[in-house]
Amino acid sequence: MQEISREYYLAHSGHKSTAELQPIYARHAAILGPDALAMVLEAFRASSQGSEEQRSTRLLLDWLAESQSARELAPVDERQIAWEASAVVRVSDTKAIPYEAVAIEIANNTDRAERHAIEAARASLVARELAPLRKERFERERDITEQLGLASSYNATFELVSGIDLDGLKAECEQFLQDTNDMWRDVVPEFTKRVLGMDPSQVIRADALALFRARDFDAYFPPERMESSIRRQVTEMGIDPLASGRITLDTSDREGKRSRAFCSPVRVPDEVYLVLRPHGGQVDWTTFLHELGHALHFAYMRPELAMEYRWLGDNSVTEGYAMLFDHLMEDAGWLTRYTSLDAARARTFLRSVGFSELHYLRRYSAKLIYEIELYAGRMRWDSLPDLYVEQLTSATTFRYNRADAFVDVDPHFYAARYLRAWQLQALLTETLVERFDADWWRNPRAGPWIVEMLFGEGQRELGHEQAQRVAQKPLSFAPLVRAVERMLG
Ligand SMILES: [Zn+2]
Repeated sequence: MQEISREYYLAHSGHKSTAELQPIYARHAAILGPDALAMVLEAFRASSQGSEEQRSTRLLLDWLAESQSARELAPVDERQIAWEASAVVRVSDTKAIPYEAVAIEIANNTDRAERHAIEAARASLVARELAPLRKERFERERDITEQLGLASSYNATFELVSGIDLDGLKAECEQFLQDTNDMWRDVVPEFTKRVLGMDPSQVIRADALALFRARDFDAYFPPERMESSIRRQVTEMGIDPLASGRITLDTSDREGKRSRAFCSPVRVPDEVYLVLRPHGGQVDWTTFLHELGHALHFAYMRPELAMEYRWLGDNSVTEGYAMLFDHLMEDAGWLTRYTSLDAARARTFLRSVGFSELHYLRRYSAKLIYEIELYAGRMRWDSLPDLYVEQLTSATTFRYNRADAFVDVDPHFYAARYLRAWQLQALLTETLVERFDADWWRNPRAGPWIVEMLFGEGQRELGHEQAQRVAQKPLSFAPLVRAVERMLG
């Protein structure tokens, strides 16, 4: 794990031109092979219900089961990476855009007709070349996982090894979409008209990219204040933002640095890197807060925790801490203290944040409902694109394209981890407000509590277990709905 993590860190931060992962996997082949899986499965089945051994072997089983399909699918994944790096979208005889740049190009384009033309060209290329590759990938992943014989189906296998109740979460998502429907319909026209000059009946997914790219507030999030402001806030909360040197912040521009920010835990908890390539504006602040939540979690895990509790586990937890920090951008008091927004502008800003939050919650709810069908095997592969378009379009208003039915999918139900993280974050925020007041983020007693009660535990607990321990409540969408209503109200 350390060797792989270091390799990714060096390659993605621009210190090395490529990640050489195959030699590492070859050197340690026995760890991830079928014999290791069989051994862990035997230990898991022999462990008693609710025991520490069952908790620990379930995490190892999750990791090893996923490794079996990951190893077999590596050539397909490599083909996809190579395709993405070289594909070109031909919009017209004179205009061609590299596939990797197309989302940014659409988001930055203020001309609706041009945006739609680029999108049409992108979708037809994806339908021809990328979608078949991705479809093959998901078909094979389902077959390989079902052949492991851990449970009766792909979805049942996921529930067994993750400890997550998929049908329960799906029912919550359906209820959430229904409960927020009126609020969503009320607010959509205001934003599509003001930001895009379009009626909700005309908007497609490409317009959503442009809408959420809006830079109206960037001036209030100056790049030169970002790192110092956020470090000051974490210090005021009673946490050393660098964890006595265990965290290294790498936020300067460098050739070869990946454009998406990331956190690399090379040795947990002793050596953690937060890498960000600045783009400017509010997105950088949100991203930095998110990755700092991950970095602090890794750097403050108790070193004596077993390997599986530091490296594996339910990512709903670490994503929950990352969101606990990035959702500070939804707190009016935090915004006026640490950014350049004043109280009046913070209110306008929060209205647009509330709209965006509701959009992404509805999108992820619809994605999970769809992805459960994709893996369930109840529908023919060829009828999935219609379901995808219907689910995503009705949840978000933006018209989706059939071409993306196998492309816009997070493998292994990562959408479920995000949705649970969202719920956990909202519950943790409410708990922190109850214990340490509305400005918990500058209360010097709050940080030590977070380190002791949350970060220190690593990822030993499942997200819903932690919610019960810390807040004595189940995970739910209720506190998220309250937060969105507050911002839009
Ligand atoms: Zn994250």
